[in-house]
Amino acid sequence: MSEPIAGAPNGEPLSSDRPPAPSPEEAIRPDGRWLAQVEAASGVKAGACYGCKKCSNGCPLSFAMDLHPYQVVRYLQLGQMDKLEGSSTVWICASCQTCLTRCPNQVDLPRLMDWLKEELVRRGQAAPEEKVRLFHQLFLKGVAKRGRVFEGELMAGYMLKTGGAFGPEAIKNARLGLTMLKKGRMKLLPERNKDRRWLKALFREPKGGSHA
Ligand code: SF4
Ligand code: SF4
Repeated sequence: MSEPIAGAPNGEPLSSDRPPAPSPEEAIRPDGRWLAQVEAASGVKAGACYGCKKCSNGCPLSFAMDLHPYQVVRYLQLGQMDKLEGSSTVWICASCQTCLTRCPNQVDLPRLMDWLKEELVRRGQAAPEEKVRLFHQLFLKGVAKRGRVFEGELMAGYMLKTGGAFGPEAIKNARLGLTMLKKGRMKLLPERNKDRRWLKALFREPKGGSHA
């Protein structure tokens, strides 16, 4: 009987029906230059990820994603940006920060996802979650205008563009808005950040980049 292969699950020998190894032409060659560019542009040390999956196990939205968050980082490490084009994960991420608090290496996935949104738009990629992209754009537009989001304007713009400004959905949202106003969770009038220079600097166009 052959000796079990070290590291195999339950100490059992690895199955002999594994897929054949890729040919040298098919093999993925990690491109370190690409990773360095991603890290410089996003400000996130993606190379520090060692694939422990703690981020993905804690992500409250991974059930709706087509790629796990750790897979996004892995594809970036391997220079396979094409695998992220058309993926829903980047657009579904709600920047809730759960993954960042769980990551033993402080890989800032929410920031990476935000950068990816911008990068995919810059590359002319259509978002599989168009409504999420629209919300993202309106959110950023509001922040660029006032330095903070005015929820009333954000929701009105979103509903007008998605056809939800009339009918039962509009009534439901109006009720929700009223409840939020009563509970002080939403302001009646917008507030504006007075430091215009800070705001302008924040939204200054990066070299070769754009805001979604
Ligand atoms: S928790 Fe951090 S190190 Fe672990 S897979 Fe996720 S990003 Fe990588
Ligand atoms: S920030 Fe995004 S990827 Fe991270 S846990 Fe939240 S939804 Fe998931």
